[in-house]
Amino acid sequence: MSSRFMRFKDGKAKALTLSYDDGVKQDIRLIDILDKHGIKATFNINAGCFANEETSKGNRMTKERAYSLYKNSPHEVAIHGYTHPFLDTLATNNAVYEIIEDRRQLEEMFGTIIRGCAYPQGTFSDSVVEVLRLCGIKYARTTISTEGFNIPTDWLRLPATCHHKNPHLFELTDKFVEGQNIRNPWLFYLWGHSYEFDNDDNWDVIERFAEKIGNRDDIWYATNIEIFDYIEAYNSLHTSADGKIVYNPTLIDVWMCNNGKTYCIKSGETVIID
Ligand SMILES: [Zn+2]
Repeated sequence: MSSRFMRFKDGKAKALTLSYDDGVKQDIRLIDILDKHGIKATFNINAGCFANEETSKGNRMTKERAYSLYKNSPHEVAIHGYTHPFLDTLATNNAVYEIIEDRRQLEEMFGTIIRGCAYPQGTFSDSVVEVLRLCGIKYARTTISTEGFNIPTDWLRLPATCHHKNPHLFELTDKFVEGQNIRNPWLFYLWGHSYEFDNDDNWDVIERFAEKIGNRDDIWYATNIEIFDYIEAYNSLHTSADGKIVYNPTLIDVWMCNNGKTYCIKSGETVIID
């Protein structure tokens, strides 16, 4: 037990996830790039802000376009406030409405359960965090960058590694791709808005990023909620006092590295760690 660390799916020591906001037309091009490189993302949507018609000015997609884009993709849809408000400035009951109405409409639209969020405008408070918790939201992304790869601990105040405009993006990418982490696993968490690639005329940034970091055997590509659920499952393992017997009571297979040896503890199974 002296040296025991979580590993991601299939025993991998690194995971990558992306988080892109607002449900904009440029997500079509972004998803095309991500899918080519096997990268998965979470898209944070305001159900109250869809464009009225295809020809509407502005970046927002119609509800129909958003449905067909995200529904038939490997990516996750999460909430972003019903009308993209500054949640921290609202009366608590109005913040509840913004969260629960976005959740209700997106769940109805996609026929799924939604448990993730990105803070619209990036603003939050302790009271907003409590609202999210009471509304059944499990993680909420902030606009804080750590420029690091540590596994998050406060999931309702979730920081990112960086925004795609961060001047250190490619240094961080090289460090992540080339690094051999034998202890704690690493998570690279990138966020942004895809319309920024049009505004800044820099689609090459996300293309280069995807080329460097995508389609690699040693990285697990997952949505935000897949990573949250995986870590929850790992943290739910039962272990004997000496750590040698490990039981997985969850529905997710998990991996651990113990003294340099990788073990898979399958859903419902007990494994003896030697
Ligand atoms: Zn936004």
